[in-house]
Amino acid sequence: METLRYGSSGNAVVLLQLALQRAGYLRPDPDGVFGTATLNAVRRFQSAFGLAPDGIAGPRTWDKLEKFLYGFFTLRLRPGDTFYRLAKRYGTTAESIAAANPELDPANLPVGGEIAVPFGYPVTPTNVPWSSELLEYAVRGLTVRYPFIRLETIGHTPLLKPIRVLRIGSGRREVFINAAHHANEWITSPLVTDFVESFAAAYVNKTELEGKSAAALYASVTLYAAPMVDPDGVDLVNGAIRDKAKNAARLIADDYPTIPFPSGWKANIEGTDLNLNYPAGWEEAERIKYEKGFVSPAPRDFVGSSPLSAPESRAVYDFTRTRDFAATVSYHTQGEEIYYKYLDEEPEGARELALKMAEVSGYSVADVPYESSFAGYKDWFISEYGRPGFTVEAGRGINPLPISQYPRLRRENFPLMTVALG
Ligand SMILES: [Zn+2]
Repeated sequence: METLRYGSSGNAVVLLQLALQRAGYLRPDPDGVFGTATLNAVRRFQSAFGLAPDGIAGPRTWDKLEKFLYGFFTLRLRPGDTFYRLAKRYGTTAESIAAANPELDPANLPVGGEIAVPFGYPVTPTNVPWSSELLEYAVRGLTVRYPFIRLETIGHTPLLKPIRVLRIGSGRREVFINAAHHANEWITSPLVTDFVESFAAAYVNKTELEGKSAAALYASVTLYAAPMVDPDGVDLVNGAIRDKAKNAARLIADDYPTIPFPSGWKANIEGTDLNLNYPAGWEEAERIKYEKGFVSPAPRDFVGSSPLSAPESRAVYDFTRTRDFAATVSYHTQGEEIYYKYLDEEPEGARELALKMAEVSGYSVADVPYESSFAGYKDWFISEYGRPGFTVEAGRGINPLPISQYPRLRRENFPLMTVALG
């Protein structure tokens, strides 16, 4: 981790502030600016954790802070410890400790053994801009807190970041929800991660997910979730990227001066629009986008040199082919619309499912304009499998949607995703 001090700014400061907030040392939501409030919070945190209170977040301070980003810590069991007493001491619940340590018998805890203790808050942050680093904290934290969640890496980006998939459930119906094919639509990443976490929490607590028994869902469905298909692009948009990679992207963006940089960036870091890179009418997408002037790597709308030329779309394609998905949902922003067709092709049951999703979210079922009808993930999934594949354009406003829209997005889309689970 970067050493941060008074005057620092950017995405690393967001992570620092998030950790301090979760630890109880900073009240306001992270803003990415290391000012007086953050300085005082770092000092108080350092004092409390036995460090010299110099107000500089260096390696030793980070070492103590990181567990708040992972959302759990480990300790050695002492005589007299019970899940209940530990839960009371650390402000969490006995159920969540039990869930994180399924191999332990609560009536017979081994003194000296190591135990993972989840903090009382959800691990998925929903009050800050996201980055690939934040996703890594969240998904690793999730798999410790809920060991029945499996984490896979389905490929790597041009900057060698992993493309992650979370799996939850044990049912025969396989459903795939993916998000952030487009960089400046990153708000869909917390949305999908948060949904997986809420499903897991409801399962552990034996409660409902959007009115459905989590246990019944768990038994009938296996959900695969790819929260961030374009981590390099998300990092570019949210300022969490090395200067060299940012400068290379800026050179690409210079050819398209009407698109704001980096907030208008939708593509992967090499300038391929990942949702125009799938083999479903790709040549037609190429013709349409070339005509509009997107003839070279660009912040958006460049289809790539050939179908699946980008490692990210190739990874999602290959992954899909290893599974047997009954339905897929691809999250984008914005427009409050649900697309369910590829040209005139309408898989059996797709319209009914789309209408149900619309009903619970307040979104509209819509047809895709001809010029946007090709080479997207949904297009390929429908044309390849003839099964329901959806694009959901969540939220309303100008991309990137601000994180302040998150509560509303959650309210609209948790019911929608639960419907998709079937
Ligand atoms: Zn999009």
